[in-house]
Amino acid sequence: DDHWLRLPNPWDVPALVCAGTDVPLEPAAVDEALALLETAASLEALSAATGGPPARITRLALTPDFHKGAGIPIGTVIETEHALLPQAVGNDVNCGMRLEVTTLTADDVRPRLPALERRLRHLFFEGGRRIALSPAQREALLRDGVPGLLLTGAAPWAGLGDRDADDSLDRVHAPAFPTGTAEAFADWIGSAGATRHEATHDSVIGGIGGGNHFVELQYVARVHDPAAAHAFGLAPGTVVLMAHSGSLSLGHQANGTARDLLRATWPAGLPRPANGVLPFLLDERTAPARRRYLDAFGNAANFAAGNRFFLALTMRAGLAAECGDLEARLLYDAPHNLFWPDGDRVVHRKGATPAGGHAAVRGGPYAPWGEPVIVPGSMGAASYVLRGHGDPRTLASACHGAGRRVPRGAAARGGDAELDAFLAEFRVVTPLDHRDPVVARRGDVMAAWRRDLNQEAPWAYKDVGPVVESLRAGGVAAPVAELRPLLTVKG
Ligand code: 5GP
Ligand code: MN
Ligand code: MN
Repeated sequence: DDHWLRLPNPWDVPALVCAGTDVPLEPAAVDEALALLETAASLEALSAATGGPPARITRLALTPDFHKGAGIPIGTVIETEHALLPQAVGNDVNCGMRLEVTTLTADDVRPRLPALERRLRHLFFEGGRRIALSPAQREALLRDGVPGLLLTGAAPWAGLGDRDADDSLDRVHAPAFPTGTAEAFADWIGSAGATRHEATHDSVIGGIGGGNHFVELQYVARVHDPAAAHAFGLAPGTVVLMAHSGSLSLGHQANGTARDLLRATWPAGLPRPANGVLPFLLDERTAPARRRYLDAFGNAANFAAGNRFFLALTMRAGLAAECGDLEARLLYDAPHNLFWPDGDRVVHRKGATPAGGHAAVRGGPYAPWGEPVIVPGSMGAASYVLRGHGDPRTLASACHGAGRRVPRGAAARGGDAELDAFLAEFRVVTPLDHRDPVVARRGDVMAAWRRDLNQEAPWAYKDVGPVVESLRAGGVAAPVAELRPLLTVKG
């Protein structure tokens, strides 16, 4: 119909796309979703070959921002029985969005933006961040997540401002992944170039990562649902900060571990699936391999939530230094690359965010409203906060952004004039100060910088309006407030 598209398939898996007729659907991404459904056949063959439990796909859903990924579309939600699909969570394990509401208004911040830009460049890109973590604190974070880190007592964010983090646990969708080990420690330390025993200002955690990740200051430009917006603290003009990041190299390591284990334990004589998707059967045979993968996965997921925590703290420190005292309260931290085991079933989300209804947030501050859903647009467009309805057709999920329109690899549309017009209107902090005359004279450096920025400019992404309207009209989530960017920090 006008809001939902059914994907027929030989296995009769219920497979639905949530998208209004005005949202562009990428044929290659639809093909990719149909190829993913062939995993139904791989699961049947695997169960038969190993005598394991009968594994199947119970449902597939695609969110309105879905687009082609490497093998599985971004915007995929897939539920399986007796099987786990590491590739269906994406490479950047526990990538997600964190949204904090400040006590500042847009009018407080606007006059300070030039000074804030300089300070944020220093904090994020010029060594200004002073996050000193002891080895014990790093291990606690990897093993037990942010709650474990906070239990270590000392404030590793000294100099980034104090914060009361205790209020946050019922505002975090996935607070911690206790693992019992911190083996990914070596990957973290390796990428930091530090030794295992050094307590050092960490150059890795609190980093923004690649170009699609960001920390953005926004203000509430429009309220759609006054009662919910009031409860969420989103009065018109309120400044909020949004952080998007994942597990940097740790998630890639975890997925590499899964791939190697799956190849090594694949039954001899059974051909590998043509679509490249290798599942773990949830049986005794794969238990040791799964345990190793889940430890690496948990370490990465814990790191990612910690990274968002520190990104937000760093932004708060910059704001406090330039705009005076403020408070910032966590609205929600939502993962979009994870899986959720529940008995024999597993829900996997790759580039899709949870959008539970009242029942999902039972007892927490959002019980009367439904789960907060954070949908960023781009660094030159609106972003939205919605409230979820827990729609079973999307397995209680919504889109996690507007979605890419132009593939990253391809040169994004937009010439110099378009980019210059964009930069004149929007404030973007990148590692490179393009206004510095010395930098501006370096043609080669500027060309590379423009290429990167073009890939992230508003024209590289879908129009967020119809995407959000698809969620509303499809009954998946209701818009609460529209946010507009004041300043974006891009890695
Ligand atoms: P991901 O990279 O996790 O697949 O997608 C994140 C989503 O964030 C994208 O689909 C896009 O809509 C949005 N996005 C990317 N860059 C920015 C940015 O700088 N600011 C905002 N507000 N949204 C962005
Ligand atoms: Mn990511
Ligand atoms: Mn992401």
